[in-house]
Amino acid sequence: MYFAPLNDMEKLIDNLEILSSEGSENCEIMHVSAEKNSGSARKLYIESYGCQMNYSDSEIVASILEKEGFDTTSDPSKADIIFLNTCSIREKAEQTIRHRLIHINGFKKHNPDLLVGILGCMAERLKSKLMEEEKIVDLVAGPDAYRDLPKLILQVDEGEKAINTFLSRDETYADITPVRLNTNGVTAFISIMRGCDNMCSFCVVPFTRGRERSRDPHSIVIEARDLFDKGYREVTLLGQNVDSYKWTAEENNKARLEKTSGKEVIRFSDLLKMVAEINPDLRIRFSTSHPKDITDDVLHTMAQYENICKNIHLPMQSGSSRILELMNRGYTREWYIDKIRSVRNILGEDCGVSSDMITGFCSETEAEHHDTMTLMDLIQFDFAYMFSYSERPGTLAEKKLKDDIALDVKNRRLSEVIKKQREHSLMRNQRDVGKIYKVLIEGVSKRSHDDLQGRNSANKVVVFPRENYSKGQYVNVFVEDCSGGTLVGKVVK
Ligand code: SAM
Ligand code: SF4
Repeated sequence: MYFAPLNDMEKLIDNLEILSSEGSENCEIMHVSAEKNSGSARKLYIESYGCQMNYSDSEIVASILEKEGFDTTSDPSKADIIFLNTCSIREKAEQTIRHRLIHINGFKKHNPDLLVGILGCMAERLKSKLMEEEKIVDLVAGPDAYRDLPKLILQVDEGEKAINTFLSRDETYADITPVRLNTNGVTAFISIMRGCDNMCSFCVVPFTRGRERSRDPHSIVIEARDLFDKGYREVTLLGQNVDSYKWTAEENNKARLEKTSGKEVIRFSDLLKMVAEINPDLRIRFSTSHPKDITDDVLHTMAQYENICKNIHLPMQSGSSRILELMNRGYTREWYIDKIRSVRNILGEDCGVSSDMITGFCSETEAEHHDTMTLMDLIQFDFAYMFSYSERPGTLAEKKLKDDIALDVKNRRLSEVIKKQREHSLMRNQRDVGKIYKVLIEGVSKRSHDDLQGRNSANKVVVFPRENYSKGQYVNVFVEDCSGGTLVGKVVK
């Protein structure tokens, strides 16, 4: 197996300005393709950066190329094709890819036939400019162009550079069964929609991933059932804004769907029920919810089914209504507080709530930064991804607002937010000491081979002695101790 040396990995995480609690396996960590040897002549190596959607997309890419006779490898030095599935969300995410290309150039020197391709958001944003700027790149494919990869590879084999950054209005890859990469065999991601129709002023996603479209719910159920039959016990339904999932048999493009009437519409709460009813032993999670769109209907559906995990990722971004308006988020501080009140009323105090926060957005004053801190105090998130604002070309903020907060101020505010979140994560975990939680075992603990780890419904990592338990089993764990990122306990009968 190839893993980036720990120092590199730490640097990578630092570069991405991410702070996540220990034990989280969520956003921005690099994922590498797995080793699969069926004796095929050519080997594909994929690195995925950024959000879970990208990781899920890499599994679609692997599936498309497996049908074309490619094996996957976890060692770039053995690869015939190297793909980097990229993120554009912050400038540093793009810089990380450019540094990685310098490293990959070393492989190309040893193997001049090596094909290097850039996929995902950076490919979509920079298009042919990427090839002009990075001579090592042979192929560029945007998030909606993956079906075209076999043709693009052929084009490179014939000595040309290849590019497709066409954004589709209805591509959902619904019929493609992803090849699970580096899986633990217990948990898997399922993309339920693509693109985003919100225009948050800081965000590049609507430009790199195109218009919002929802995937056929029947294909989602088939994929989830198939995973369950293969031994998986948890699926995470993915979309940029799952609460706006909307599908009819006639139309999956949200903008066009708004104009049609009288059709039977499947919404997110309907989809949740459909997946929850596959089997009570299949856990369901989802990400990301949007404060302006999440409905009580979804919260009641979560309450109704034990196997829908009681955990909501509801990015707040800022605690100031003025900044939220500048961000074009479509809600105010009071609205956000109201949504959390509904979560607590319907799902109780134990429901995990996590958030994303941005510090130093255009014109943010100290008082408005303070608003973010006081809202954090009020809500006490279990977990958060925290970022300093990074201006992205082409976004509404870049066109209309001034990126006028000095970097040292953005970073100081970021460290204050991080410090507060650390305190809250610990406090929220301390509440759990002395309680019993149902835990799905995901594997051996990262810290000790004598321990196993899994997560409870609220998405908290729980570590406990291994005994005779194994991956994929549900156990009840009595929590005896905790840190800010982990609950520690023992199994009780
Ligand atoms: N769709 C999700 C939502 O609306 O909450 C999140 C999508 S985005 C991939 C993940 C997070 O990155 C955002 O919630 C935001 O906090 C952060 N982000 C996006 N653009 C950013 C920017 N230009 N600078 C800093 N952080 C940014
Ligand atoms: Fe970006 Fe906003 Fe869409 Fe999330 S909802 S992907 S932050 S535009």
